[in-house]
Amino acid sequence: PKGIADLDPVVSDSLLALIALIAADPRDNKIDVGVGVFRDGEGRTPIPASVKEAERRLVESQETKAYLGGWGDRGFTAALRPIVLGPHAGDERIEGVQTPGGCGALFLAARLIKLAKPEAKVLVGTPTWPNHPPVLKGAGLEIVEYRHYDFATRMVDFGALREAATKATPGDVLLLHGCCHNPTGGDFSEAEWREIAAIAKERRLTPLIDIAYQGFGRGFEEDGYGVRVMLDACEEVLIAQSCDKNFGVYRDRVGSFWLKTRDKAATANAMAHVLQIAREAWSMPPDHGAAAARIVLEDAGLRSQWQGEVAAMRDRINTVRRRIADSDQRLGYIANEYGMFSMMPLSPDQVRALRERHAVYMADSGRFNVVGIADRDIDRFCAAVIEAMD
Ligand code: PMP
Repeated sequence: PKGIADLDPVVSDSLLALIALIAADPRDNKIDVGVGVFRDGEGRTPIPASVKEAERRLVESQETKAYLGGWGDRGFTAALRPIVLGPHAGDERIEGVQTPGGCGALFLAARLIKLAKPEAKVLVGTPTWPNHPPVLKGAGLEIVEYRHYDFATRMVDFGALREAATKATPGDVLLLHGCCHNPTGGDFSEAEWREIAAIAKERRLTPLIDIAYQGFGRGFEEDGYGVRVMLDACEEVLIAQSCDKNFGVYRDRVGSFWLKTRDKAATANAMAHVLQIAREAWSMPPDHGAAAARIVLEDAGLRSQWQGEVAAMRDRINTVRRRIADSDQRLGYIANEYGMFSMMPLSPDQVRALRERHAVYMADSGRFNVVGIADRDIDRFCAAVIEAMD
């Protein structure tokens, strides 16, 4: 009989292949805009000082590592609540649970949807974060794709969303990037958010908002706008949130899943199911990063320090965007996009030429991490891209 040893090879994730290529390149002028972590002007991915201080306090004061239970650190979710929900923080129909990163939250969302409404389809705008389809399909959900981003105009294709939503069946789910769209950087305007919310309400669609980069686009409140208008409009809303980027704790796996239903009791019941799903998968979330984030959020001084550190990350993102946009009019759109990612107007062959000739590494799709480039390399990066486009 066939066994585990006979499995077909995994179709390799192109980003993992890219990491191997970079490691194998002996040149010392490599520019890595493939991997999705924030880098400062010197090219480092630092732990924010506020988080470092919170970790110090945590290690000093922690007396036990006994189990906390499936909810994780409830002080963490309580402190995060106003950031994620804004003016809806007081709404008793909304409950949140700590998860292992945004991925854990998406996993819970997908499994809950499948459990509650197995026939529901999930509308997914393309391109999207490559892990979205596997998580949704892994839960047994059917995906309906529409075009999120128009590569000809370098704008969100709002008409495609409107059409897909109009054709959807009541109860279907709209997966939306809350801000800083990965991979395109193409976010909805506030007017577009209000229109999507109105369509979702009228068509009785359930928004599932993935918000992994709050604070990296325009600011915490501004980046939370979509979440807020969806909560204004809809009775049933799911939110998959990540703190991994805005607290710089990537590998500590910090996130949360939020649910709103028609009333408090129905939410509590659904959340009991969510905890069952979590129990099967990871039992309880890892503590350290969320505990550190809680300490930051609960302490006024650390909190404002952290907000300043996120503002500095956002400023760097937007400054690098501006410099790239100013280097050639064909790249002008990059200044109108948000977050760590945008896509270069390059074919896979041009992307390969960039690698070979200039040691600039980006995904074959042309997706690049805006802040993957150290300040000293920005001009060289722009010149290389312009040469590759010509
Ligand atoms: N959603 C999007 C759009 C992302 O880009 C990411 C991270 N790359 C996640 C969710 C998951 O984040 P985490 O690392 O917290 O699981």
